[in-house]
Amino acid sequence: MTEQPQLTLYNSLTREKEIFTPQDPTRVTMYNCGPTVYSYAHIGNARAAVVADVLFRVLRHIYGEDHVIYARNITDVDDKIIKAATEQGVEISEITEKFAKIYQDDLAALGCLPPTHEPKATEHIGDMITMISKLIKDGFAYESDGHVFFDVSKYDDYGKLSGNTLDALRGGDRVGEGEVARKKNSADFVLWKPELDGVGWDAPFGRGRPGWHIECSAMAKATLGEVIDIHCGGVDLKFPHHENEIAQSCCANGHDVFAKYWVHNEFLNMGSEKMSKSLGNVTLIHDLLEEWDGEVIRLALLKAHYRSELQWSEDLLRESKAQLDGWYRFLQNIPTETAAKPVSNYDFKFTPAIFDDINTPYQISSFTVLQSQIKHLLENELSPQNYMRFSTIESLPKSDAECRSIMISQINKDLSVLSFYCNLLGLLQKDPEEWFRGGLDYDALVAEYDAVRVDALKAKEAGDMAAMGALFKRSDDIRDQVKAEGIVIESGPDGKSTWRKA
Ligand code: AMP
Ligand code: ZN
Repeated sequence: MTEQPQLTLYNSLTREKEIFTPQDPTRVTMYNCGPTVYSYAHIGNARAAVVADVLFRVLRHIYGEDHVIYARNITDVDDKIIKAATEQGVEISEITEKFAKIYQDDLAALGCLPPTHEPKATEHIGDMITMISKLIKDGFAYESDGHVFFDVSKYDDYGKLSGNTLDALRGGDRVGEGEVARKKNSADFVLWKPELDGVGWDAPFGRGRPGWHIECSAMAKATLGEVIDIHCGGVDLKFPHHENEIAQSCCANGHDVFAKYWVHNEFLNMGSEKMSKSLGNVTLIHDLLEEWDGEVIRLALLKAHYRSELQWSEDLLRESKAQLDGWYRFLQNIPTETAAKPVSNYDFKFTPAIFDDINTPYQISSFTVLQSQIKHLLENELSPQNYMRFSTIESLPKSDAECRSIMISQINKDLSVLSFYCNLLGLLQKDPEEWFRGGLDYDALVAEYDAVRVDALKAKEAGDMAAMGALFKRSDDIRDQVKAEGIVIESGPDGKSTWRKA
């Protein structure tokens, strides 16, 4: 077996780039905080999901498809969901099931692989109750006025991930305001709240509903185990959400560590501000997919390194579309004899950028280099004389035929490397023909166009000019109709026409 390249990741916990070493290479675990499903997800949410998907693909490549367990949860109970359900007079599940399905479909259109597990919070309430009970029993949590709070003063490492110290957090204490009045320390956070609008579950500490943070701790434990390898999410979740997940999980499970590596993606911005529902500056994935192919959106999301902010714009989408069109056009014109074979044991001379802290922009730029390398090989006459110009191999081929076969195998190799990177990035996953047809289907109409023209010629031979005129009119109408829809019909050599997007 060829040795795999080493993966490095920037760990937000240690604030250093580290070599990734899983606890068990036959069971690599990763968790990603998923959406709260009460409305459509925006493209900033998609960035977090697509970054995690690339990491998932890289891990699957290194450790094997069956050895990476990826859990992305669905938060299907939350105050905003309950409020929306009350307003609409429906069960919360009616809203959450609808938007969970839309989220899954939207991400699939962006080329995200389905995670191994997609736990729903409401299916793990029992696990949350067990965890909260343990925290109360061991003195890390306390009940107060129908609520349960985590006592941050009991956990020495609180603030380690985000860099927030307890003293700084206490500075913001606003005693007497709402929940704060019920807490021992203002930084304490809620694990359990009383039921709201009739939504609640029975628990030893009173009928109620879970706080947000405990959901992820319980679902990560149920699907992946007590100590996980990688935890992902956007930087906005570092504090308080992830800080609180660490506190709950470490104290309830009795370990020093909850996740060994924390991978946080930076914001996707609209103008100078983070895209967020509360600012009202969101662009929905669902709406973008009406106009753009999922791969265009995916490329736009991967053009910036995940630890840099990404400025979202229509120009970015246009640029990504043009780039993909160029690559697909290039692949469409590759002679079949040089077509890529899948790489199973690729010989890595140096670590590809994608393994270096998921450097997607750098890896994407390698597409252009590989493409011009292949073009160069294809455009040069395949003779021993030309071969010398771009070969470093010492022994020269003796004949044109030998030269050609060496060149073709070099092109094969370059194409295979290109396809290897594309698979890790989830790009160029379509057939070029399909790409240019844009998921549309004009086959039946174009077949009718050909049949009508055959009949028109038959009518002409039979001298039936009226029928011929009517039939040619029908074929012209078909051509005009598809043209208005952005499609051109092209005549084929055997009388069989084809179509493509203009
Ligand atoms: P939410 O539904 O707000 O909890 O977000 C789901 C995921 O998307 C989390 O990992 C967030 O950190 C991430 N996220 C939300 N807004 C943005 C944004 N503007 N840019 C990048 N990631 C974001
Ligand atoms: Zn979470």
